[in-house]
Amino acid sequence: MSDLFEQPRYVPKNKSVIAIIREFEKEYLEIFELAKTKWNHSIREFHRDATGLKLSRGLGQGRATNITIRFLPDCDNDFIRLIDEHFPDLDFLEYTKTRALYSALNESSDYFINDPVGKFHFVLKGHCYKYLEKYNLKKLQKVLFFEPGRSKDIFGAYYYKDSRIELYYIPLIIFSQINQIDLEYLIVVILAHELAHAYHHVGFDTDGVYWSKMADVDIGIKEGLAQYYTALYVDEQKNIYPGIEEAYRQLLDFQSGPYLVHESWLKSFKKEHVKHAFNVTRRNGNLDYDEFVNILKRAKDQLK
Ligand SMILES: [Zn+2]
Repeated sequence: MSDLFEQPRYVPKNKSVIAIIREFEKEYLEIFELAKTKWNHSIREFHRDATGLKLSRGLGQGRATNITIRFLPDCDNDFIRLIDEHFPDLDFLEYTKTRALYSALNESSDYFINDPVGKFHFVLKGHCYKYLEKYNLKKLQKVLFFEPGRSKDIFGAYYYKDSRIELYYIPLIIFSQINQIDLEYLIVVILAHELAHAYHHVGFDTDGVYWSKMADVDIGIKEGLAQYYTALYVDEQKNIYPGIEEAYRQLLDFQSGPYLVHESWLKSFKKEHVKHAFNVTRRNGNLDYDEFVNILKRAKDQLK
C-alpha cells in the first residue's frame, strides 16, 4: 500500500493533474491492479516461453528473483513539469469529453441540416471546434509524448539495481484519455515491455547464466528486444483482446529510434533468429547494435 501515499516532491500546477493524483485510488487503482492480478502471470509465462529464460535457477540453486511492480504518478515529475510548462491550464478530462462530443456531433450532422435555432452548429463550430483548435491534438501529442519518448520509456521503467518495475499513472491515464484508448490495455502493453526488460536482465538460461552486462549495451539492443517481445505478446493476445493491439499500434505512432528497430526484425527475421542473436549477445558480452544485426543476419543463414 505504500505506493499509494508516496507524494511527488514537485507540486503540479495543472489542476487536472492534481485531480488525477487525488482521485487515483478511487477512480483508477482498480484498473491498475489488474496489471498485477489479471495480466502479470500471462505476460511472465509468455516471456519465459519465448526466451527460454526463467527468474529462478531451479531447485537447490537459489531462490527466484522477485520483480516488484509499483504505481507512481510520474518518473521524477518530468512529464508533469512538461504539462505545466506547455499546457498549465488544460483540463484533460474536459478535453477528452469535448473531443468525444465533437466526434458525435460530426457523425450526426446529417440529421441537423435544418437547424432552425442554430444551436447545433454553435456547439459544433462555436464551441468544440474552437476549443480543439486552441489545444491542437497533434501539438499535444508531439510535445507530451513523441519528443520525450525519443530516448526513454515515459510510461514505465525497469531498474537494474533491484529488478523493480514502476508504472507511471499520470502519462498513462492522460495518453489513454486524449487518444481514446482503453487504459487497461495500454497498461498491459507497457507492463509487457517492462517485464521483457526484467526477464532479459535477470532471467537465467539453462546454464544458470543471466545478462550481467545488459545495462551497458546499446539502447537499440535492449529497447529493440523489449519492443520485439512485446509485439509477439500482442500478436498472441490480439484475437481475444483486440484492444491490446490497438493500444500497441497507437503507442508505436509516438515512438521513434530504438523503440522502432524491432519492426525491421519482425519483417526480416524469424523468432529463432532473434532468440539466437539475443543469446549470443547476452552470453558473449556484445554491446554494439551493428554487431547485433550482423549476428542476426548470420543466424538467418545458419537457421533456415
Ligand atoms: Zn524500455
